[in-house]
Amino acid sequence: MNEILTCRHCHTPIEETDNFCRACGRSLKQGYSFWFTHTGIILLALLAGPFALPFVWMSKIISPVAKWIYSAVLLLIGYYFILTCYKLFLLIQTSTNMLLHGF
Ligand SMILES: [Zn+2]
Repeated sequence: MNEILTCRHCHTPIEETDNFCRACGRSLKQGYSFWFTHTGIILLALLAGPFALPFVWMSKIISPVAKWIYSAVLLLIGYYFILTCYKLFLLIQTSTNMLLHGF
């Protein structure tokens, strides 16, 4: 007895080999959803910065070369993000010192 596979989104019966649902057109396999496309990853990078990295590596849509480029860009963003946080921290510390001890 074969288990009948259905689409996660619209529950239409599907073939095991299908990558996309015939009824609603959505992806059926892990790593093929919108967030794994170039558009999805760029959007994630803008929203979440370095946290988009796992999506880059789980994606089965983008090429290995693209994965390295995305990773480099995301790590660079992450680096500048940490640097900015550190500078902000120093600035707050300096301002607090000035307020406490006068100029
Ligand atoms: Zn469907």
